[in-house]
Amino acid sequence: MHLPFIRSVKDIDLRNQRVLIRADLNVPIKDGLVTSDARIVASLATIRLALNAGASVVVMSHLGRPIEGQYADQYSLAPVAQRLAQLLDREVPLLAQPEDCPAIEFGEIGLLENVRFLMGEKSNSAELSQRLSDQCDVFVMDAFGTAHRAHASTHGVAELAAAACAGLLLDAELKAFQHTLSAPQKPMVAIIGGAKVSTKLEVLGSLAGIADRIIVGGGIANTFIAAAGYEIGKSLYEPELLGVAKNIAGRVKIPIPVDVMVGRAFDEAATAIVKNIDDVAADEMIMDIGPVTARAWAETLLDAQTIMWNGPLGVFEFDQFGEGTRVLAQAIADSSAYSIAGGGDTLAAVDKYCVTDGISYISTGGGAFLELVEGKVLPAVEMLRLRSV
Ligand code: AMP
Repeated sequence: MHLPFIRSVKDIDLRNQRVLIRADLNVPIKDGLVTSDARIVASLATIRLALNAGASVVVMSHLGRPIEGQYADQYSLAPVAQRLAQLLDREVPLLAQPEDCPAIEFGEIGLLENVRFLMGEKSNSAELSQRLSDQCDVFVMDAFGTAHRAHASTHGVAELAAAACAGLLLDAELKAFQHTLSAPQKPMVAIIGGAKVSTKLEVLGSLAGIADRIIVGGGIANTFIAAAGYEIGKSLYEPELLGVAKNIAGRVKIPIPVDVMVGRAFDEAATAIVKNIDDVAADEMIMDIGPVTARAWAETLLDAQTIMWNGPLGVFEFDQFGEGTRVLAQAIADSSAYSIAGGGDTLAAVDKYCVTDGISYISTGGGAFLELVEGKVLPAVEMLRLRSV
């Protein structure tokens, strides 16, 4: 991966500048409260830098998937403003429209309401991009998790703003991926789990050329297990991708579990039963790797120098099918390899199994994570590159 030159927010004097920061504050919210503030915390460094420099700071983000152009309470960033105010220990007013930005004085901060309430966000409309860029002297792109989208708040505004640069988080994310992908210390093991091969096909193909081994888990593993000729009963898998799975397995080492945890229903209360891989019955679903496999795979991580992890190894939301994910998460954390983990469900697993401290770099990106590994250029990053020459 080649990292282009992109101007960093560190290189710009922000004193008395109107600074608009695109952060990724798309966090889970329940009953009006933020339930995981990891993405907010990850955005604080750039926000603090701008505030300390004496800028007038407005942060913007999307939240969830509202109908574009329509306000909806459930997608309001109000709970995020509240949490941000607690973390910064200062007031963070919520601004309904971009035109409300001038209310924020130098040295103060405001949060613009969900950018997806604004018409033209997803279509990257020139009109909305102009409205946003009119509000700032410096646009700071810090939303790595949304950098694979060319939206008005990530791309159009960067094109039109008087100056555009990368925030500290985006910069750190890109450097972590460059470190992992350009010249990874070998052996490199990639752990790719999750529901469907189809969503991670390209990433598996790219990793087949980079990694020494790929451990596949979750529904993805089921397709590989079926491709290896085993009965998988009623497990989630993608029959149309059996050929593709065989092809990938022919290019890089992909182990098949020797034992698995099966259930008869996709249910929180389903009983988990250990089965040898050649013993799965027609009415059973594979929902996790078994204990022998988990231990063996954890041991294979001992000699790894680089580990990349995206996606759970089973239905970890149900505790009885979470052991495979827990054991491997712990093995990654215990390993001395450089490790990078990312993706929404992966972060939830990292939280659930308390392994944050053992992982070298935890990425806030899911889609952006996969697209970088696939070798794609992230549109928002490309725009910053163009604005940096
Ligand atoms: P993804 O968004 O592709 O990373 O998929 C994550 C989801 O895959 C999680 O919600 C898991 O519960 C689910 N998952 C993992 N393993 C399995 C499995 N064996 N069968 C069905 N779903 C699974």
